[in-house]
Amino acid sequence: MSLVVMKFGGTSVVNTERIMRVAQRLIALKEVGSGVVAVVSAMGDVTDELVAMAEEISPYPPEREMDMLLATGEQVTIALLAMAIHSLGHQAISFTGPQVGIVTDSGHTKAKIREVRAERVRAALDQGLIVIVAGFQGVTEDGHITTLGRGGSDTTAIAVAAGIGAEVCEIYSDVDGVYTADPRIVPSARRIDVVSYEEMLEMAATGARVLQLRAVEFARNHGVAIHCRSSFEDTPGTIVKEADESMEQAIISGVTHDISEAKITIRDVPDRPGVAASVFGTLADANANVDMIIQNVSESGTTDISFTVPKEDLARAKKATEKVVLELGARRWSLDESVAKVSLIGAGMKTHPGVAAQMFRALADAGVNLDMIATSSIRISCVISAAEVERAVRALHSSFGLDSEEISAEASPACGEGADGGVG
Ligand code: ASP
Ligand code: MG
Repeated sequence: MSLVVMKFGGTSVVNTERIMRVAQRLIALKEVGSGVVAVVSAMGDVTDELVAMAEEISPYPPEREMDMLLATGEQVTIALLAMAIHSLGHQAISFTGPQVGIVTDSGHTKAKIREVRAERVRAALDQGLIVIVAGFQGVTEDGHITTLGRGGSDTTAIAVAAGIGAEVCEIYSDVDGVYTADPRIVPSARRIDVVSYEEMLEMAATGARVLQLRAVEFARNHGVAIHCRSSFEDTPGTIVKEADESMEQAIISGVTHDISEAKITIRDVPDRPGVAASVFGTLADANANVDMIIQNVSESGTTDISFTVPKEDLARAKKATEKVVLELGARRWSLDESVAKVSLIGAGMKTHPGVAAQMFRALADAGVNLDMIATSSIRISCVISAAEVERAVRALHSSFGLDSEEISAEASPACGEGADGGVG
């Protein structure tokens, strides 16, 4: 029996009518003889609404209770979906994350999966049931409910697929795949047919909201291919898998952008060993994630250090920066919240000289000033002013020949779910 894991995001289950549609889709697959597991998100914006309610009560709700609250969203969907399948004359059973043995560490609100004890899913499949699993949630060894971070249902789906030995995990959302850029910004962006885990990881890390970064990591580590496709059409979407020879290696696969970070600069930091360690040590202790870092050439014994942090972590980062500025006797620090990061991703750039030069030229011709630059072997990222981000993405997309010949009139807003829809 072939095993299929299908994940449906919030927009795909936004109301009972859509839930009925998902039920029909699962039944159709079951009828051709597959073992079917569905992993679902909370309906529509339910998770956001729950977060908003918690914030009305307290700006810093206890994280354990936050998980208790957020996990309820998915539980509503699984029960309704199982009922929908029953109403159509078929057998289904719903399970919460804890019930299907998604065991996590105790990092409440962004717990990591340690183990998937999939026996219960397997047993239900053996009984011929369609199995419905709540995404985004798990349980610690000692029985506390956890959640996996926003967008975490993708990770649940991949983990369940790995746990039962399914070869492909299909991720359904309101967009039909990963695009060469966000079609809302670049109408001529194209859907990518196949992309490697490596490229997808870079895309997810630099602003593509198609798939949760951790889901891609999990898929790569367990060799599960991901098929990212539309819940409203039957057309193939984008397949994310191990790179192999048969895959055409584009020099550049896509352009991503991200406006979710802010830039902090500490000026006149004494230039001696251990300074960077104490700056970034203090930030790490404050649980502020640091992305790009630049240290200037030192003049007369002092230097400037700039770095970017997610705006989400900004309150913590600001506190930590103030503290370290005092400790180091640095003179001042500044904050810029209107920055953006544009990135160029492509496995082919490893073997192709001149990509960086072409990128900087294209940005210069578009009148975009570069603030910071960082690279990996298959990515180049630049921090620029947020006001220029759309212009920059368009310039890069066309400079690297990614524009499709025909501009599709109704290019869908690239992957992701509703409000968190973004692109690759
Ligand atoms: N419902 C959760 C969220 O909105 C998890 C998910 O949808 O993947 O982040
Ligand atoms: Mg959601």
